[in-house]
Amino acid sequence: MMASRNQNRAPRSPSSKRGDGDGVPLDKRRRVGAGVGKTAGSERKPFGSVNKKLEAAASSADASSKDASESSCIEFTKEEVEALVNEKAKMKRFDLKGNLEATTELNSRLKLCLKWCQKREEGHVEEESKLRNDLESYQKRCEDTEVEMRRVEEVSRTTIVELTKENASLKEKLSKEESEKLAAVESYRKEHEARIALETEKASLSKELEEANKKASLDAVTNNNLKAYNESLQQYSAKLHSDLVTTRNLLQRVEQEKAAVVENLSTVRGHKQSLQEQLAISRASQDEAVNMKHSLVTEVKCLRGDLQQVRDDRDRQLAQVQDLNAELLKYQENTGKSQAELDVLISKAQLLEETCSSHRKQISLLEQKLTAANEKSKTLDMTAAEARTGFEEQRRIVSELQERLADAEQQLLEGEKLRKKLHNTILELKGNIRVFCRVRPSLPDDARADTQVVTYPSSLESLGRGIDVMQNGQKYPFTFDKVFSHDASQQDVFVEISQLVQSALDGYKVCIFAYGQTGSGKTYTMMGRPEAPELKGLIPRSLEQIFQASQVLMSQGWKYKMQASMLEIYNETIRDLLSPNRSSSCESSNAPGKQYNIKHDANGNTHVTDLTVVDVSSIAEISSLLRQAAQSRSVGKTQMNEQSSRSHFVFTLRIYGVNEGTEQQLQGVLNLIDLAGSERLSRSGATGDRLKETQAINKSLSCLADVIFALGKKEDHVPFRNSKLTYLLQPCLGGDSKTLMFVNVSPDPSSVGESLCSLKFAARVNACEIGVPRRQMNLRPAIAAVDSRLSYG
Ligand code: ADP
Ligand code: MG
Repeated sequence: MMASRNQNRAPRSPSSKRGDGDGVPLDKRRRVGAGVGKTAGSERKPFGSVNKKLEAAASSADASSKDASESSCIEFTKEEVEALVNEKAKMKRFDLKGNLEATTELNSRLKLCLKWCQKREEGHVEEESKLRNDLESYQKRCEDTEVEMRRVEEVSRTTIVELTKENASLKEKLSKEESEKLAAVESYRKEHEARIALETEKASLSKELEEANKKASLDAVTNNNLKAYNESLQQYSAKLHSDLVTTRNLLQRVEQEKAAVVENLSTVRGHKQSLQEQLAISRASQDEAVNMKHSLVTEVKCLRGDLQQVRDDRDRQLAQVQDLNAELLKYQENTGKSQAELDVLISKAQLLEETCSSHRKQISLLEQKLTAANEKSKTLDMTAAEARTGFEEQRRIVSELQERLADAEQQLLEGEKLRKKLHNTILELKGNIRVFCRVRPSLPDDARADTQVVTYPSSLESLGRGIDVMQNGQKYPFTFDKVFSHDASQQDVFVEISQLVQSALDGYKVCIFAYGQTGSGKTYTMMGRPEAPELKGLIPRSLEQIFQASQVLMSQGWKYKMQASMLEIYNETIRDLLSPNRSSSCESSNAPGKQYNIKHDANGNTHVTDLTVVDVSSIAEISSLLRQAAQSRSVGKTQMNEQSSRSHFVFTLRIYGVNEGTEQQLQGVLNLIDLAGSERLSRSGATGDRLKETQAINKSLSCLADVIFALGKKEDHVPFRNSKLTYLLQPCLGGDSKTLMFVNVSPDPSSVGESLCSLKFAARVNACEIGVPRRQMNLRPAIAAVDSRLSYG
């Protein structure tokens, strides 16, 4: 900006400042510059190179006019101003007036200078804005020119391309035309040659013709031939001639074409020339434009550099200001935030302190509790340890006690065994009749009673052995070897007599009686009921046991032979229940001619003549025999008017055993007797046959009682022969036998009198001693006899 202005003004030399009187401005300047002339002598620096075009275009008229007006003002250089500012009025001591003047002058000069400075400042500002405008317009123009140039360039480029294309096509055309022309020329030349050749030929032919014509005369034939030949030749010549004409026409046309082509070529060439000229012109203008563009670009670059600098400064300042503002804002924000945070933190801290204090309190409380709990746990530990030791002690004691208990139980078991053995021994030594009492359960037909007729004492000494019967408010107590109440099963009863059965197998003579009034359960006890196995009576159970035991003893070398017989004694008559000829129709019911006489031999063995004795070797055989006997009895029962309860049933099993290893032999007898009903005559109220029957029963039973009591009293005479039953059982009731009597009792209140009678009888029997039982064992010399007996069966 400065540059453009200063360049319009002639640089001033120091001499010009000092120059003397070239108008007012110079005077003024001299006055201002007075005293500083020497220092302000240096020439003002010329401004940087500026585009001449710009100078000419932009700052032409108004700039120069402004300069002209300014040149009327007083002007200062930088050095002059500095000198003026630094100058001090030359004071003379006593020349106050002079001093004042000098000061005034300096003042005025300074004022002028100041004014100039201000003016310049204003000028500068104006200039700056103007320059800025100029620059903008320049830039705009530059851009316009650039765009225009670009457009022109584009246009000229397209024109060039078009021209080049046209040129190429024209060239191509030209070359084609030329080649065509060459071909035409060539053909023409050829035609020409051919024509010449033909003409020469024609000439030669015409010569030949002449010669031939000359010769025609000579040879007519030849002439004719020649004529023909000539004709043909003429034809050929005419043809050639026509060919020539067409060729000439062609040639003419070709030449015309050639002329046209040549003309065309010349016009194309002219066109090409003009185009090339145009191209050259546009190239030149393009170059010019490019040059201009370059210069403009460089200028713009310069201006842009300046502008950029100024902008950078401004931006820097602005950025600084913004930074500072941002920082300020940040600080403000931070302080605000910090304040808020601080408040929050303070409140939080207060809260925390509160919770802390409460926690502290809790902790102290918990600590107290903990110490208390610790103490408690210590004491508990101690007590637990004590308890544990106590527990261990207790456990030790318990185990000790258990051991002792086991020992005691073992001892008890052994004691029990010993007791049984001793009991057996005592029984054997004592040898008395044993009496068991069995009370049947109440039946639906039994009379009802308010009080129980039969009760069982619960005292320890008579437990399972005592029975009390109430009659007319009076209690009659009885004690037997065993009392079975109504709920005792067949098996319970059998367990108690199994030892007795076993002794039959060991060689003893055994009798088991069932005594009691009719309906008290004698047959139930002895035979049981056939419908269920658990209701089996003592007879089948005893036989099963004997067979099983004999099987076991066989392994020890024992051989057994068993013989079974079953008979009935009714009215002192023996009946064979196993007789195959047994007739159920007749009263006597015995087979005709059979005499059942009872005989005892010297060895104490009983034999009944004509009685059926069956060898049995298995339970199945015994079962079928028992069924047969029961049938015989049941037949009699229905046909003989309850005869069964008025007859004695005797089942006898004789057991012969031989041990070949030890040369032992033994002979046991098992008698199982279901006695007739023991009820008294008055009760039965019978007359006639019935009376006789009852009398017979009572007689035989009383005979049995007599025998037992006589044996008990050890009288010399025992009345065995008074009844068939006692005589039959004589060897088995003697001193070396084992006898068991079941007294069956009915709980029916209407039978209490009979029950008392039965129990009183049984009690008397129980008090008897029959003697010491003895096993019937023989040694070797007796074996022969046994063998003969075994064969007898
Ligand atoms: P007895 O032979 O003495 O005349 P029974 O043996 O015929 O008597 O018995 C009479 C009734 O009583 C029969 O119906 C029998 O089944 C029944 N009875 C006897 N004793 C018992 C008992 N212990 N358990 C169940 N019923 C029995
Ligand atoms: Mg009976």
